Amino acid sequence: MSSITARDWLWFGLLALAAVVHLEAARGLERVREVTAEGSPHTHLQSVWFFAALLLLPPPLVAGILLISYVHSWLRVYRRRALVHRKVFSAATVVLALAGAYLVLAAIFPTHTEPFAVTLSGPLGLVAVVVAGFIYWLVNYALVVGVILLTNPDRPARKVLGRASDQLMIAGAIGLGTGMAIVMISQPWWTPLLIVTVLALHTGLLLPQFRDASRTDAKTGLFEPTFWAELTNDELDRARRLQGTLGLLLVDLDHFKRVNDGYGHLAGDIVLRAVAEAIKHSVRGHDMVGRYGGEEFAIVLPGLGADDACEAAERVRAAIAELAVTVPDLDGETQVIRGLTASVGAAVYPDHGTERTSLLLAADAALYDAKTEGRDRVRIAEAVRPSLPSARRSQEWIRLGLVRDDADKVS
Ligand code: GH3
Ligand code: MG
Ligand code: MG
Repeated sequence: MSSITARDWLWFGLLALAAVVHLEAARGLERVREVTAEGSPHTHLQSVWFFAALLLLPPPLVAGILLISYVHSWLRVYRRRALVHRKVFSAATVVLALAGAYLVLAAIFPTHTEPFAVTLSGPLGLVAVVVAGFIYWLVNYALVVGVILLTNPDRPARKVLGRASDQLMIAGAIGLGTGMAIVMISQPWWTPLLIVTVLALHTGLLLPQFRDASRTDAKTGLFEPTFWAELTNDELDRARRLQGTLGLLLVDLDHFKRVNDGYGHLAGDIVLRAVAEAIKHSVRGHDMVGRYGGEEFAIVLPGLGADDACEAAERVRAAIAELAVTVPDLDGETQVIRGLTASVGAAVYPDHGTERTSLLLAADAALYDAKTEGRDRVRIAEAVRPSLPSARRSQEWIRLGLVRDDADKVS
Protein backbone atom coordinates (compact mmCIF):
# COMPACT_ATOMS: atom_id res chain seq x y z
CA MET A 1 0.00 0.00 0.00
CA SER A 2 1.57 3.20 -1.07
CA SER A 3 -0.61 6.00 0.19
CA ILE A 4 -3.36 6.51 2.71
CA THR A 5 -6.77 6.79 1.09
CA ALA A 6 -9.88 8.59 2.22
CA ARG A 7 -11.41 5.20 3.02
CA ASP A 8 -8.43 4.43 5.29
CA TRP A 9 -9.03 7.64 7.19
CA LEU A 10 -12.69 6.81 7.56
CA TRP A 11 -11.90 3.39 9.01
CA PHE A 12 -9.22 4.92 11.17
CA GLY A 13 -11.72 7.44 12.52
CA LEU A 14 -14.30 4.74 13.23
CA LEU A 15 -11.84 2.44 15.00
CA ALA A 16 -10.34 5.29 17.01
CA LEU A 17 -13.80 6.43 18.05
CA ALA A 18 -14.81 2.90 19.00
CA ALA A 19 -11.63 2.43 21.03
CA VAL A 20 -12.21 5.70 22.89
CA VAL A 21 -15.88 4.97 23.62
CA HIS A 22 -14.97 1.44 24.72
CA LEU A 23 -12.33 2.65 27.16
CA GLU A 24 -14.62 5.37 28.54
CA ALA A 25 -17.42 2.85 29.11
CA ALA A 26 -15.10 0.47 30.90
CA ARG A 27 -12.97 3.05 32.69
CA GLY A 28 -13.82 2.17 36.28
CA LEU A 29 -13.72 -1.50 35.45
CA GLU A 30 -10.31 -1.18 33.86
CA ARG A 31 -8.95 0.52 36.98
CA VAL A 32 -10.09 -2.35 39.15
CA ARG A 33 -8.82 -4.90 36.66
CA GLU A 34 -5.48 -3.19 36.50
CA VAL A 35 -5.14 -3.01 40.25
CA THR A 36 -6.17 -6.62 40.83
CA ALA A 37 -3.95 -7.82 37.99
CA GLU A 38 -0.94 -6.13 39.60
CA GLY A 39 2.07 -8.36 38.99
CA SER A 40 0.13 -10.57 36.57
CA PRO A 41 -0.20 -10.09 32.82
CA HIS A 42 -2.84 -7.45 32.22
CA THR A 43 -4.84 -8.18 29.12
CA HIS A 44 -5.50 -5.49 26.58
CA LEU A 45 -9.21 -5.57 25.89
CA GLN A 46 -8.53 -2.91 23.30
CA SER A 47 -6.99 -5.69 21.22
CA VAL A 48 -10.31 -5.86 19.34
CA TRP A 49 -9.57 -2.48 17.79
CA PHE A 50 -5.83 -3.08 17.45
CA PHE A 51 -6.36 -6.31 15.57
CA ALA A 52 -9.10 -4.88 13.36
CA ALA A 53 -6.76 -1.97 12.58
CA LEU A 54 -3.97 -4.40 11.65
CA LEU A 55 -6.21 -6.09 9.12
CA LEU A 56 -7.66 -2.86 7.72
CA LEU A 57 -5.16 -0.03 7.88
CA PRO A 58 -1.67 0.76 6.64
CA PRO A 59 0.92 0.41 9.45
CA PRO A 60 1.23 4.15 10.27
CA LEU A 61 -2.50 4.35 10.98
CA VAL A 62 -2.36 1.16 13.06
CA ALA A 63 0.29 2.90 15.14
CA GLY A 64 -2.04 5.91 15.35
CA ILE A 65 -4.84 3.78 16.87
CA LEU A 66 -2.40 2.38 19.40
CA LEU A 67 -1.13 5.82 20.31
CA ILE A 68 -4.65 7.19 20.79
CA SER A 69 -5.63 4.24 22.96
CA TYR A 70 -2.57 4.49 25.18
CA VAL A 71 -2.65 8.25 25.59
CA HIS A 72 -6.34 7.99 26.40
CA SER A 73 -5.85 5.31 29.04
CA TRP A 74 -2.90 7.20 30.47
CA LEU A 75 -5.02 10.31 30.93
CA ARG A 76 -8.31 8.73 31.91
CA VAL A 77 -7.69 5.30 33.44
CA TYR A 78 -4.27 5.52 35.07
CA ARG A 79 -4.47 9.27 35.63
CA ARG A 80 -0.73 9.66 35.17
CA ARG A 81 -0.21 7.68 38.35
CA ALA A 82 1.21 4.49 36.96
CA LEU A 83 4.91 4.15 36.32
CA VAL A 84 5.58 5.74 32.94
CA HIS A 85 8.10 3.12 31.94
CA ARG A 86 5.56 0.38 32.63
CA LYS A 87 2.97 1.88 30.34
CA VAL A 88 5.61 2.50 27.69
CA PHE A 89 6.70 -1.10 28.05
CA SER A 90 3.11 -2.26 27.80
CA ALA A 91 2.59 -0.22 24.63
CA ALA A 92 5.87 -1.55 23.24
CA THR A 93 4.76 -5.15 23.75
CA VAL A 94 1.62 -4.42 21.74
CA VAL A 95 3.68 -2.74 19.00
CA LEU A 96 5.95 -5.78 18.81
CA ALA A 97 3.01 -8.18 18.93
CA LEU A 98 1.30 -6.31 16.10
CA ALA A 99 4.58 -6.24 14.15
CA GLY A 100 4.90 -10.02 14.63
CA ALA A 101 1.36 -10.57 13.38
CA TYR A 102 1.99 -8.22 10.46
CA LEU A 103 5.12 -10.14 9.45
CA VAL A 104 3.17 -13.41 9.48
CA LEU A 105 0.47 -11.96 7.24
CA ALA A 106 2.98 -10.29 4.92
CA ALA A 107 4.94 -13.55 4.66
CA ILE A 108 1.83 -15.54 3.67
CA PHE A 109 0.55 -12.82 1.31
CA PRO A 110 3.76 -11.17 0.10
CA THR A 111 2.19 -9.36 -2.85
CA HIS A 112 -0.84 -7.90 -1.12
CA THR A 113 -1.86 -4.44 -2.28
CA GLU A 114 -5.20 -4.21 -0.48
CA PRO A 115 -5.81 -4.34 3.27
CA PHE A 116 -5.30 -7.83 4.68
CA ALA A 117 -9.01 -8.07 5.41
CA VAL A 118 -9.59 -8.08 1.62
CA THR A 119 -6.69 -10.33 0.71
CA LEU A 120 -7.32 -12.98 3.35
CA SER A 121 -9.73 -15.38 1.74
CA GLY A 122 -10.09 -19.12 1.46
CA PRO A 123 -8.48 -21.66 3.78
CA LEU A 124 -5.10 -19.93 3.52
CA GLY A 125 -6.71 -16.75 4.79
CA LEU A 126 -8.05 -18.63 7.79
CA VAL A 127 -4.64 -20.16 8.52
CA ALA A 128 -2.99 -16.76 8.16
CA VAL A 129 -5.38 -15.09 10.63
CA VAL A 130 -5.06 -17.91 13.16
CA VAL A 131 -1.26 -17.89 13.01
CA ALA A 132 -1.10 -14.07 13.11
CA GLY A 133 -3.51 -14.01 16.06
CA PHE A 134 -1.47 -16.63 17.86
CA ILE A 135 1.75 -14.67 17.29
CA TYR A 136 0.07 -11.46 18.48
CA TRP A 137 -0.97 -13.20 21.70
CA LEU A 138 2.32 -15.08 22.17
CA VAL A 139 4.64 -12.08 21.72
CA ASN A 140 2.56 -9.99 24.10
CA TYR A 141 2.20 -12.69 26.71
CA ALA A 142 5.81 -13.90 26.57
CA LEU A 143 7.20 -10.37 26.93
CA VAL A 144 4.94 -9.47 29.84
CA VAL A 145 5.48 -12.75 31.71
CA GLY A 146 9.23 -12.55 31.00
CA VAL A 147 9.53 -9.10 32.52
CA ILE A 148 7.41 -9.99 35.55
CA LEU A 149 9.65 -13.01 36.13
CA LEU A 150 12.76 -10.86 35.84
CA THR A 151 11.55 -8.13 38.16
CA ASN A 152 9.64 -10.28 40.70
CA PRO A 153 11.54 -13.58 40.80
CA ASP A 154 9.80 -14.75 43.98
CA ARG A 155 6.26 -14.20 42.78
CA PRO A 156 4.13 -17.35 42.70
CA ALA A 157 3.95 -18.86 39.20
CA ARG A 158 0.15 -18.87 39.24
CA LYS A 159 0.11 -15.09 39.64
CA VAL A 160 2.81 -14.54 37.04
CA LEU A 161 0.99 -16.60 34.44
CA GLY A 162 -2.26 -14.81 35.14
CA ARG A 163 -5.80 -16.07 34.84
CA ALA A 164 -6.64 -18.40 31.98
CA SER A 165 -9.92 -16.53 31.53
CA ASP A 166 -7.96 -13.37 30.72
CA GLN A 167 -6.07 -15.16 27.99
CA LEU A 168 -9.35 -16.47 26.60
CA MET A 169 -10.59 -12.91 26.51
CA ILE A 170 -7.65 -11.97 24.32
CA ALA A 171 -8.42 -14.85 21.97
CA GLY A 172 -11.99 -13.56 21.83
CA ALA A 173 -10.79 -10.03 21.18
CA ILE A 174 -8.63 -11.19 18.27
CA GLY A 175 -11.57 -13.10 16.79
CA LEU A 176 -13.89 -10.14 17.20
CA GLY A 177 -11.31 -7.80 15.69
CA THR A 178 -11.04 -10.06 12.66
CA GLY A 179 -14.80 -10.19 12.30
CA MET A 180 -14.97 -6.44 12.63
CA ALA A 181 -12.40 -5.92 9.88
CA ILE A 182 -14.17 -8.31 7.51
CA VAL A 183 -17.53 -6.65 8.10
CA MET A 184 -16.04 -3.19 7.59
CA ILE A 185 -14.68 -4.36 4.24
CA SER A 186 -17.66 -6.27 2.96
CA GLN A 187 -20.66 -4.70 4.70
CA PRO A 188 -19.49 -1.30 5.96
CA TRP A 189 -23.00 -0.31 7.02
CA TRP A 190 -23.04 -3.11 9.55
CA THR A 191 -20.02 -1.63 11.31
CA PRO A 192 -21.96 0.41 13.92
CA LEU A 193 -24.02 -2.68 14.73
CA LEU A 194 -20.90 -4.72 15.41
CA ILE A 195 -19.19 -1.96 17.38
CA VAL A 196 -22.24 -1.53 19.60
CA THR A 197 -22.39 -5.32 20.03
CA VAL A 198 -18.79 -5.45 21.22
CA LEU A 199 -19.34 -2.57 23.64
CA ALA A 200 -22.56 -4.10 24.95
CA LEU A 201 -20.98 -7.52 25.42
CA HIS A 202 -18.01 -6.07 27.23
CA THR A 203 -19.93 -3.91 29.61
CA GLY A 204 -22.84 -6.33 29.94
CA LEU A 205 -20.79 -9.43 30.64
CA LEU A 206 -17.73 -8.09 32.38
CA LEU A 207 -19.06 -5.31 34.57
CA PRO A 208 -21.32 -7.56 36.68
CA GLN A 209 -18.36 -9.86 37.24
CA PHE A 210 -16.63 -6.99 39.00
CA ARG A 211 -19.71 -5.77 40.74
CA ASP A 212 -20.81 -9.11 42.06
CA ALA A 213 -22.09 -9.60 45.55
CA SER A 214 -18.76 -10.57 47.04
CA ARG A 215 -17.16 -7.33 45.93
CA THR A 216 -19.77 -4.69 46.44
CA ASP A 217 -22.26 -3.85 49.09
CA ALA A 218 -25.83 -4.41 47.91
CA LYS A 219 -27.26 -1.40 49.71
CA THR A 220 -24.88 1.26 48.46
CA GLY A 221 -23.00 -0.29 45.53
CA LEU A 222 -19.72 0.61 47.25
CA PHE A 223 -16.89 -1.88 47.71
CA GLU A 224 -17.48 -4.43 50.40
CA PRO A 225 -14.86 -4.27 53.21
CA THR A 226 -12.69 -7.30 52.42
CA PHE A 227 -12.51 -6.44 48.73
CA TRP A 228 -11.80 -2.82 49.62
CA ALA A 229 -9.01 -4.07 51.89
CA GLU A 230 -7.53 -6.10 49.02
CA LEU A 231 -7.58 -3.09 46.70
CA THR A 232 -6.05 -0.95 49.42
CA ASN A 233 -3.21 -3.40 49.93
CA ASP A 234 -2.47 -3.31 46.21
CA GLU A 235 -2.50 0.49 46.22
CA LEU A 236 -0.16 0.51 49.21
CA ASP A 237 2.22 -1.82 47.37
CA ARG A 238 2.14 0.59 44.49
CA ALA A 239 2.77 3.59 46.74
CA ARG A 240 5.78 1.78 48.24
CA ARG A 241 7.20 1.01 44.82
CA LEU A 242 6.61 4.54 43.52
CA GLN A 243 7.76 5.97 46.84
CA GLY A 244 4.56 7.91 46.74
CA THR A 245 1.87 8.76 49.25
CA LEU A 246 -1.65 7.56 49.83
CA GLY A 247 -4.53 9.06 51.79
CA LEU A 248 -7.07 7.09 53.77
CA LEU A 249 -10.33 8.56 55.06
CA LEU A 250 -12.87 7.13 57.46
CA VAL A 251 -16.25 8.82 57.34
CA ASP A 252 -18.92 8.29 60.00
CA LEU A 253 -22.31 9.95 59.77
CA ASP A 254 -23.20 12.01 62.81
CA HIS A 255 -26.17 10.97 64.93
CA PHE A 256 -27.40 8.67 62.24
CA LYS A 257 -29.56 6.85 64.73
CA ARG A 258 -31.76 9.95 64.81
CA VAL A 259 -32.52 9.53 61.11
CA ASN A 260 -33.60 5.95 61.73
CA ASP A 261 -35.55 6.90 64.83
CA GLY A 262 -37.23 9.86 63.18
CA TYR A 263 -38.02 8.48 59.73
CA GLY A 264 -37.56 4.72 59.93
CA HIS A 265 -34.92 2.32 58.64
CA LEU A 266 -36.15 2.44 55.07
CA ALA A 267 -35.54 6.19 55.00
CA GLY A 268 -32.17 5.54 56.66
CA ASP A 269 -31.23 3.19 53.85
CA ILE A 270 -32.19 5.75 51.21
CA VAL A 271 -30.02 8.32 52.99
CA LEU A 272 -27.11 5.87 53.06
CA ARG A 273 -27.40 5.40 49.32
CA ALA A 274 -27.47 9.14 48.74
CA VAL A 275 -24.45 9.61 50.99
CA ALA A 276 -22.58 6.88 49.09
CA GLU A 277 -23.30 8.66 45.81
CA ALA A 278 -22.26 12.03 47.26
CA ILE A 279 -18.97 10.57 48.48
CA LYS A 280 -18.25 8.94 45.14
CA HIS A 281 -18.90 12.20 43.32
CA SER A 282 -16.66 14.22 45.58
CA VAL A 283 -13.58 12.03 45.06
CA ARG A 284 -11.74 11.13 41.87
CA GLY A 285 -12.89 8.28 39.65
CA HIS A 286 -10.06 6.00 40.72
CA ASP A 287 -10.32 6.64 44.46
CA MET A 288 -11.79 3.60 46.12
CA VAL A 289 -14.80 3.99 48.35
CA GLY A 290 -15.86 1.12 50.59
CA ARG A 291 -18.72 0.70 53.01
CA TYR A 292 -16.98 -0.19 56.20
CA GLY A 293 -19.80 -0.62 58.64
CA GLY A 294 -23.40 0.49 59.00
CA GLU A 295 -22.97 4.21 58.31
CA GLU A 296 -19.20 4.25 58.04
CA PHE A 297 -17.25 4.60 54.86
CA ALA A 298 -13.57 4.10 54.08
CA ILE A 299 -11.90 5.84 51.16
CA VAL A 300 -8.47 5.28 49.67
CA LEU A 301 -6.95 8.21 47.83
CA PRO A 302 -3.94 6.95 45.90
CA GLY A 303 -1.14 9.45 45.45
CA LEU A 304 -2.47 12.04 47.90
CA GLY A 305 -0.43 13.56 50.71
CA ALA A 306 -1.72 15.12 53.92
CA ASP A 307 -2.90 18.45 52.44
CA ASP A 308 -4.68 16.93 49.45
CA ALA A 309 -6.23 14.21 51.59
CA CYS A 310 -7.63 16.83 53.98
CA GLU A 311 -8.96 18.79 51.04
CA ALA A 312 -10.68 15.67 49.72
CA ALA A 313 -12.05 14.95 53.19
CA GLU A 314 -13.41 18.48 53.38
CA ARG A 315 -15.07 18.03 49.97
CA VAL A 316 -16.69 14.81 51.18
CA ARG A 317 -17.90 16.47 54.37
CA ALA A 318 -19.31 19.44 52.45
CA ALA A 319 -21.02 17.20 49.87
CA ILE A 320 -22.80 15.29 52.63
CA ALA A 321 -23.80 18.54 54.35
CA GLU A 322 -25.40 19.78 51.13
CA LEU A 323 -27.53 16.69 50.59
CA ALA A 324 -31.31 16.99 50.48
CA VAL A 325 -32.68 13.46 50.43
CA THR A 326 -36.31 12.79 49.66
CA VAL A 327 -37.64 9.88 51.70
CA PRO A 328 -40.97 8.42 52.74
CA ASP A 329 -41.42 8.75 56.50
CA LEU A 330 -43.05 6.23 58.84
CA ASP A 331 -46.53 7.36 57.74
CA GLY A 332 -45.65 7.11 54.07
CA GLU A 333 -45.53 10.90 53.68
CA THR A 334 -42.74 12.35 51.56
CA GLN A 335 -40.13 14.19 53.58
CA VAL A 336 -36.88 15.90 52.68
CA ILE A 337 -33.95 15.25 54.99
CA ARG A 338 -31.41 18.04 55.14
CA GLY A 339 -28.58 19.04 57.41
CA LEU A 340 -26.86 15.66 57.53
CA THR A 341 -23.35 15.91 58.86
CA ALA A 342 -20.41 13.58 59.01
CA SER A 343 -17.12 13.37 60.85
CA VAL A 344 -14.03 12.40 58.93
CA GLY A 345 -10.70 11.00 60.12
CA ALA A 346 -7.75 11.12 57.74
CA ALA A 347 -4.43 9.30 57.75
CA VAL A 348 -1.65 9.32 55.20
CA TYR A 349 0.92 6.78 54.10
CA PRO A 350 3.75 6.87 55.12
CA ASP A 351 3.34 9.63 57.76
CA HIS A 352 0.81 7.88 59.97
CA GLY A 353 1.33 4.26 59.13
CA THR A 354 2.91 2.01 56.56
CA GLU A 355 0.35 -0.80 56.63
CA ARG A 356 -3.35 -0.81 55.96
CA THR A 357 -4.02 -1.77 59.54
CA SER A 358 -1.99 0.99 61.12
CA LEU A 359 -3.44 3.55 58.71
CA LEU A 360 -6.99 2.47 59.55
CA LEU A 361 -6.29 2.70 63.25
CA ALA A 362 -4.72 6.15 62.84
CA ALA A 363 -7.68 7.37 60.76
CA ASP A 364 -10.08 5.89 63.30
CA ALA A 365 -8.33 7.73 66.12
CA ALA A 366 -8.60 10.96 64.11
CA LEU A 367 -12.28 10.24 63.50
CA TYR A 368 -12.75 9.78 67.21
CA ASP A 369 -11.16 13.21 67.75
CA ALA A 370 -13.51 14.75 65.20
CA LYS A 371 -16.48 13.22 67.06
CA THR A 372 -15.37 14.36 70.50
CA GLU A 373 -14.54 17.85 69.28
CA GLY A 374 -18.15 18.37 68.21
CA ARG A 375 -18.67 16.33 64.99
CA ASP A 376 -19.18 17.74 61.45
CA ARG A 377 -15.45 18.19 60.93
CA VAL A 378 -12.29 16.70 59.50
CA ARG A 379 -9.37 15.65 61.65
CA ILE A 380 -6.05 14.27 60.51
CA ALA A 381 -4.07 11.68 62.43
CA GLU A 382 -1.20 12.72 64.60
CA ALA A 383 2.19 11.44 63.66
CA VAL A 384 2.75 9.79 67.02
CA ARG A 385 -0.13 8.52 69.08
CA PRO A 386 0.80 6.33 71.99
CA SER A 387 -2.67 5.19 72.99
CA LEU A 388 -5.65 4.66 70.75
CA PRO A 389 -9.02 5.53 72.20
CA SER A 390 -11.01 3.37 69.83
CA ALA A 391 -9.94 0.00 71.14
CA ARG A 392 -13.48 -1.33 70.96
CA ARG A 393 -13.71 -0.77 67.26
CA SER A 394 -10.24 -2.14 66.68
CA GLN A 395 -11.32 -5.33 68.42
CA GLU A 396 -14.34 -5.56 66.15
CA TRP A 397 -12.15 -5.12 63.07
CA ILE A 398 -9.78 -7.80 64.28
CA ARG A 399 -12.75 -10.10 64.78
CA LEU A 400 -13.92 -9.40 61.21
CA GLY A 401 -10.41 -10.15 59.97
CA LEU A 402 -10.04 -6.67 58.51
CA VAL A 403 -6.99 -5.79 60.56
CA ARG A 404 -4.35 -8.02 62.04
CA ASP A 405 -3.98 -8.50 65.73
CA ASP A 406 -0.22 -8.01 65.70
CA ALA A 407 -0.34 -4.86 63.56
CA ASP A 408 2.04 -2.07 64.31
CA LYS A 409 -0.35 0.22 66.12
CA VAL A 410 1.88 3.24 65.69
CA SER A 411 4.27 3.55 62.83
P1 GH3 B 1 -22.35 9.31 66.08
O1 GH3 B 1 -21.71 8.46 65.04
O2 GH3 B 1 -22.43 10.72 65.70
O3 GH3 B 1 -21.72 9.11 67.41
O4 GH3 B 1 -23.87 8.84 66.23
P2 GH3 B 1 -24.62 7.70 65.47
O5 GH3 B 1 -26.06 7.78 65.81
O6 GH3 B 1 -24.28 7.72 64.04
O7 GH3 B 1 -24.02 6.49 66.22
P3 GH3 B 1 -23.38 5.16 65.69
O8 GH3 B 1 -22.41 5.46 64.63
O9 GH3 B 1 -22.91 4.40 66.88
O10 GH3 B 1 -24.67 4.40 65.18
C1 GH3 B 1 -24.83 3.95 63.88
C2 GH3 B 1 -26.30 3.80 63.59
O11 GH3 B 1 -26.46 3.58 62.21
C3 GH3 B 1 -26.91 2.61 64.27
C4 GH3 B 1 -27.90 2.08 63.29
O12 GH3 B 1 -29.20 2.43 63.68
C5 GH3 B 1 -27.59 2.80 62.01
N1 GH3 B 1 -27.34 1.88 60.91
C6 GH3 B 1 -26.28 1.07 60.73
N2 GH3 B 1 -26.38 0.39 59.59
C7 GH3 B 1 -27.54 0.77 59.00
C8 GH3 B 1 -28.22 0.40 57.79
O13 GH3 B 1 -27.76 -0.41 57.00
N3 GH3 B 1 -29.41 1.02 57.54
C9 GH3 B 1 -29.95 1.94 58.39
N4 GH3 B 1 -31.11 2.50 58.06
N5 GH3 B 1 -29.33 2.29 59.51
C10 GH3 B 1 -28.16 1.72 59.84
MG1 MG C 1 -20.84 4.52 63.32
MG1 MG D 1 -22.38 7.58 63.28
